[in-house]
Amino acid sequence: MPETKYVYDFAEGNKDLKDLLGGKGANLAEMTNLGLPVPPGFTITTEACTVFLETGSTPSSLDDEVTTHLDALESARGKRLGDPDDPLLVSVRSGAKFSMPGMMETVLNVGLNDRSVEGLARQADNERFAWDSYRRLIQMFGKTVQHIEGEAFEDALDEVKRAKDTDNDLDLDADDLRKVVDAYKGIVREHTGADFPQDPREQLTAAINAVFNSWNSDRAVLYRRQERIPGDLGTAVSVVAMVFGNLGMDSGTGVAFTRDPGTGEQGVYGDYLQNAQGEDVVAGIRNTVPLQDLEKLDKTSYDRLMEIMATLEGHYKDLCDIEFTVEAGQLWMLQTRVGKRTAAAAFRIASQLVDEGVIDLDEAVQRVTGEQLVQLMFPQFDTTAKVHQLGRGMSASPGAAVGKAVFDSYTAVKWSRSGEKVILVRRETNPDDLNGMIAAQGILTSRGGKTSHAAVVARGMGKTCVCGAEELQVNTKRRYLTAPDGTEVHEGDVISVDGTTGRVYLGEVPVVDSPVVSYFEGVVEEQDDLVQAVHRIMTHADSTRRMGVRANADTAEDAERARRFGAEGIGLCRTEHMFLGERRQHVERLILAEDDEQRDQALEALLPLQRWDFLQLLTAMDGLPTTIRLLDPPLHEFLPNITELSVRVALAESRGEKNENDLRLMQAVHRLHEANPMLGLRGVRLGLVVPGLFDLQVRAIAEAAAQLLKLGKDPKPEIMIPLVGSVQELEIIQADAKKVLAEVAEQTGEELSILIGTMIELPRAALTADQIAEAAQFFSFGTNDLTQTTWGFSRDDVEAAFFSTYLEVGIFGVSPFETIDVDGVGELVRIGTEKGRATRPDLKVGVCGEHGGDPDSVHFFNEVGLDYVSCSPFRVPVARLEAARATVSQEGGSDSR
Ligand code: PEP
Ligand code: MG
Repeated sequence: MPETKYVYDFAEGNKDLKDLLGGKGANLAEMTNLGLPVPPGFTITTEACTVFLETGSTPSSLDDEVTTHLDALESARGKRLGDPDDPLLVSVRSGAKFSMPGMMETVLNVGLNDRSVEGLARQADNERFAWDSYRRLIQMFGKTVQHIEGEAFEDALDEVKRAKDTDNDLDLDADDLRKVVDAYKGIVREHTGADFPQDPREQLTAAINAVFNSWNSDRAVLYRRQERIPGDLGTAVSVVAMVFGNLGMDSGTGVAFTRDPGTGEQGVYGDYLQNAQGEDVVAGIRNTVPLQDLEKLDKTSYDRLMEIMATLEGHYKDLCDIEFTVEAGQLWMLQTRVGKRTAAAAFRIASQLVDEGVIDLDEAVQRVTGEQLVQLMFPQFDTTAKVHQLGRGMSASPGAAVGKAVFDSYTAVKWSRSGEKVILVRRETNPDDLNGMIAAQGILTSRGGKTSHAAVVARGMGKTCVCGAEELQVNTKRRYLTAPDGTEVHEGDVISVDGTTGRVYLGEVPVVDSPVVSYFEGVVEEQDDLVQAVHRIMTHADSTRRMGVRANADTAEDAERARRFGAEGIGLCRTEHMFLGERRQHVERLILAEDDEQRDQALEALLPLQRWDFLQLLTAMDGLPTTIRLLDPPLHEFLPNITELSVRVALAESRGEKNENDLRLMQAVHRLHEANPMLGLRGVRLGLVVPGLFDLQVRAIAEAAAQLLKLGKDPKPEIMIPLVGSVQELEIIQADAKKVLAEVAEQTGEELSILIGTMIELPRAALTADQIAEAAQFFSFGTNDLTQTTWGFSRDDVEAAFFSTYLEVGIFGVSPFETIDVDGVGELVRIGTEKGRATRPDLKVGVCGEHGGDPDSVHFFNEVGLDYVSCSPFRVPVARLEAARATVSQEGGSDSR
């Protein structure tokens, strides 16, 4: 077998090799092959990383491969790594398949040592630059490779700055930086017991291994969990010839977007920092200037950058973000990728690209996600309300967040754990703030641009963020901020942060529906361009998707909303709530009935009430299929709480009274008590042991339908039997139901064609679906119960009890109650569908568990061939969009509906 290749020169890769070369490596290769100015380099694959992480050492052939590619790099640059006279320096950069901004490590200036720093100074004729580069190497290497606290280095740098009476790095000259290097080397010696490594190759190997290790750093693991990125992908490592943005004022470094990642508007967006290296920009350490200013500073580089940005957008057919460096007037591209963007920008850009003829509508549907649509449906601040504006920053990530101001991540996490909503306020964030950012409702920073750490990470998470609100003075040590009007906000004071406009308010500002929800509700008149983009994409989604989308709705009000949101029917009407409130008394009578007569009286009292319920529901859903599920929960849920009842009985006894009804209730509660009610007397079992109960519901449905037919309406009820495990259960209930339907048809003279189907929510039902389909006229997977019974997880208990441990140790990446467990529960869905259709080829199959509105699960249900998904009304647009995306990606865009 040929040996695995672990290292690829940039000229050997391309953008489609992200799995192997990571996003950064693949795109550097792509840009190299496009003939763009990329410094030469090579990428070590994610496969090498996974070997390293699994075995604790790199593959045996890696060293030789690196040497071969390093030789080629040295020849290309005409320099040797760390040469004392004219050193080649390299950067060692992380880059996973999915972007994880700032979560892993990078080491710059590898190859510098006590001798080569002098060579670099001579070659560049710039001593300051050489010593600045060396101190950066020691600092980054110390932190990343040797795990020395960053603070030690920062304190040493501060001390030299203090001695010089400045707080600006740029005021330090070569001698000062020499002192910084000496201090840094002392720190390394003190912490490691050894000198800073002088061998350039030793530096390189250690830096590569450190980048591999950073895949499993706490913050990277946390970020992956948050973003649902699999933990076993590993990172690639790109080794790139250094180009220097810190060579003087004709050098610099920047980031740019081809369109505004916040709003999607076309134009030039980005930040530039003169005389600096890349990490200064992303870390938000020094204040940048807008990219437009580069035109004045260095027109040649600016024009070339604009040209390259146009090339990249044309090539990737999407918004690109770019990192670049200008080295003494020469522009170099250090990174590009299809950029992260806000939800609004995603919809606007997709629609713009269709207008520009760059992509078609199928592709536009692929460019947005259901989660982004959810973001757009969040409420927004009511700007007509009376508000106290504290200040304004950049709209880094949209949304309306309200919470108590906290000034450090630890407090954000602590307070949010105790149920408080918090806003994390920082001067700027760094990767160590990730925990606090996740815990917070929103993030506010007083420094840093749209590309600062806070902005990039918040946008990626879809979390509200305002950054660079410079008019707010943030004092994190003393935990308060001061607004320009003198208002002080202390820890615990409530503030409102509007990520869409960048405004920050004191107190809680009321919220209103988003324009996108108003659009779905059909109440917007003036359509802004965002609503137009959503409309266009959703219209295409509806004409593209194969699966239908229904809603889970129990009331006419919910059903109407679901219909407005695009539901094509009700997939699940849970009838339980129809037996609560005042109607409980009738159920109690039913349970306590001592003979047929008493039972029939209780049922008779319920009949008109149920008929009214179904009349309303079927009216709301006129013309659309409406699946009504017969009563499901355990009977004891309709009886009073045992503790309250016991107290009542005891009090009555103490007064010498005796309430016969309460005593009978007590007996019933005891009789019906179950150790595992979720596995007990519920669903079809209830229908079988309480004579007349399901008949009552079937009659109410049939009579309501007949009444509406008489009125010329088009009711389409479907009757669904819950918790069926064997075909016999269904056959008995179905025979009774058919009898009732025939009776009602006869009595009313209306022809009733009402399907009788079943839920598939027990493993036995899925495994015997061929038999069940002999009786069932449709299937609907109840994946909530199916997950419960497949895993043996109690729906009510396990999430609080031990899911956090399961998530931590990686047994699953996300709760199986949220996203379908494809291998287990999903397999039962697949088997159930196949077996059901083997018996009844035209069997209609849907799903009505919570998974029906979960994007990943929707894709799975599409793949298995279900006819529809059913979810809560608010998720209906998400399911419509995701069903279309699933169709497009599965069938290459063909319209099979
Ligand atoms: C299910 O079990 O998935 C389902 C839809 O029914 P319920 O949640 O009402 O048990
Ligand atoms: Mg169920």
